[in-house]
Amino acid sequence: MENYSMTIAGRSVQAERSFKVINPATGEAFASVPAGTVADLDAAVAAARAAFPAWSRSSDAERSSLVHALAALLESNMSALMALLTQETGKPLNGLNGVGAGMEVGGAIAWTHVTADLSLPVEVIQDNEDARIEVHRKPLGVVASITPWNWPLMIAIWHIMPALRAGNTVVVKPSELTPVATLRFVELANTILPAGVLNIVSAERDAGVGEAIARHPGIDKIVFTGSTPTGRRIMANAAGNLKRLTLELGGNDAGIVLPDVDPKQVAAKLFGAAFHNNGQTCACLKRLYVHESIYEDLCRELAELARAAVVGNGMQPETQLGPVQNRKQQEYVAALADDARAQGARVLAGGRAREGKGYFYEPTVLADVADGMRVVDEEQFGPLLPVIKYANIDEVIARANDNPNGLGGSIWSNDLAAASKLALRLECGTAWINEHGAIQPNAPFGGVKQSGIGVEFGRYGLEEYTSIQTLKIMKH
Ligand code: NAD
Repeated sequence: MENYSMTIAGRSVQAERSFKVINPATGEAFASVPAGTVADLDAAVAAARAAFPAWSRSSDAERSSLVHALAALLESNMSALMALLTQETGKPLNGLNGVGAGMEVGGAIAWTHVTADLSLPVEVIQDNEDARIEVHRKPLGVVASITPWNWPLMIAIWHIMPALRAGNTVVVKPSELTPVATLRFVELANTILPAGVLNIVSAERDAGVGEAIARHPGIDKIVFTGSTPTGRRIMANAAGNLKRLTLELGGNDAGIVLPDVDPKQVAAKLFGAAFHNNGQTCACLKRLYVHESIYEDLCRELAELARAAVVGNGMQPETQLGPVQNRKQQEYVAALADDARAQGARVLAGGRAREGKGYFYEPTVLADVADGMRVVDEEQFGPLLPVIKYANIDEVIARANDNPNGLGGSIWSNDLAAASKLALRLECGTAWINEHGAIQPNAPFGGVKQSGIGVEFGRYGLEEYTSIQTLKIMKH
C-alpha cells in the first residue's frame, strides 16, 4: 500500500498516525495518508503567512507563468493522477460521455491555464482636474480550501489557482474520503513553488481540523465546496475574524422538458446530465419535470439508457459508471429509492444495490414520483433520477423553484427564445437551455439560496480572492 505525505512549508510531513483510504470499487484500502492534527494546521498556516509577503509582492507576470507551469505539471503527471482519482473516487478513467478521471485532470489543466491568463487591471473611475480615483485589487492573505469527495482534484484546482494567481498563499484540507490525488498534486507543485505558498493538511473527519480552519485567526478567507449543513457551520465559526467566504454547496437542480421536444433526441443528453459521475456532481440534473404529452415516451428512453449503461470498476476502460463513492452514500441512495417505491413510484430501471464487493448501486429511473417525496425534495447525490409529470408551465416553474437549493436549472425546448424567458424565471445560479451542468473556466458559476455564496471561475471568480483598495489622488 502506497503512503502519502502532507506538504507544509515546502517539506514533506508525516503525522504520528495515518489512516486508510478505501477504493469504493473493491471496498478495500489502497492508500495510507497522514492523520494530520490541529498542530499541523497551525504549522501550515504559519508557513502560508510567512510566505505571503514575498508571494503577494511577486510580479503579475511571474505568478501567471508559475500558474501555467502548474498546468504543465498536471499534464505531465496526468495518467498517474487519473489512476489515483479512479481508485479513491470510483469514477471511471473514461466514464459516461467521457466524464471521468480523464476529464477531471483534463479540466484541472484547462482551468489552470485559463486562470493563469486572467488579470486584475486597475480600474480608473475618475480622472479629471480635481482628482484621479483608481480601484486596485489586492490579495487577502492566507486562503484555506476545504474540498469534497466527488471531484476532489478539480475542485482543489478551482480553489488553489485563482487564490495563487491573485497573490494569496494557500492551505488545503482535502476530504478525508479522497485526499490522495490532491496530496500528490501539492507535493508536485512544491517542486516549483516557493516554500509555504501552497500547503496541505490531511485529517480524519473528527480530528477537528475543519472546525479549526473556520475559527483560525491566521486565515483570511475560506473557499469551501461541500454540503449545505457544513457550509452553515463554517460560516458560523468563521465570524470571529470576519473571514471572507466562497461557499459552493448542495444542489437539487430541476430540468424542465417542454412538449415540443422529441424524447428520442434529448434522452441521451438528459441521461448524461443526470447520471455522469453516478449523479455525484453538485450540478447534476436531479429532478426531471416532463410534460405529460411526452412523459411515457421519455421515461421509456431513459430507462433503456439506464439498463444499457456499463457499470463496473472504473479502471476498466469500457466502464461508464463506477460505484457510489462511499458506503454511507450508497445506503442513503438506497433509502431514497426504497422510500419512493413504498409511496407508489414505478421503478423503470435499477432500484437496488449490486451483490458483491464495492459500493455499487444500479442506475435507477423512477416514474410516478411527485414533489413531497424524499427522492424529489432531497439532493440524492447518486445514480437515481426521479421523473415527474407536469401539465402547466407556470405551475412547473413554481414547483422547480419551491426548493431551498438554487444551484442550476435547465429548460429543454426547440424554441430558444421562449426557453430563455422561462430559464430566467428559475431561481438558480446558472440556467441552461438544452444542456445541464456544462461549466467552463471563463463563465461564473455559483449557487443562490441555500446553494451557496459567491461565484467561481473567470474574472468574477478571481475577484473573490481579493479586496478592493480605492486610491484617491487629489490634483490640487
Ligand atoms: P461535506 O460537507 O460532508 O464535506 C466537505 C468537506 O468539509 C470535507 O473536506 C470535510 O472533511 C469538511 N468538513 C466536515 N465538517 C466540517 C466542519 N465542521 N468544518 C469545516 N470543514 C468540515 O460534503 P461532501 O459529502 O464531501 O460533499 C458532497 C456535497 O458537496 C454535496 O452536497 C454536493 O452537492 C456538494 N458539492 C457542491 C459543489 C458546488 O460547486 N456547489 C461541488 C461539488 C460538491
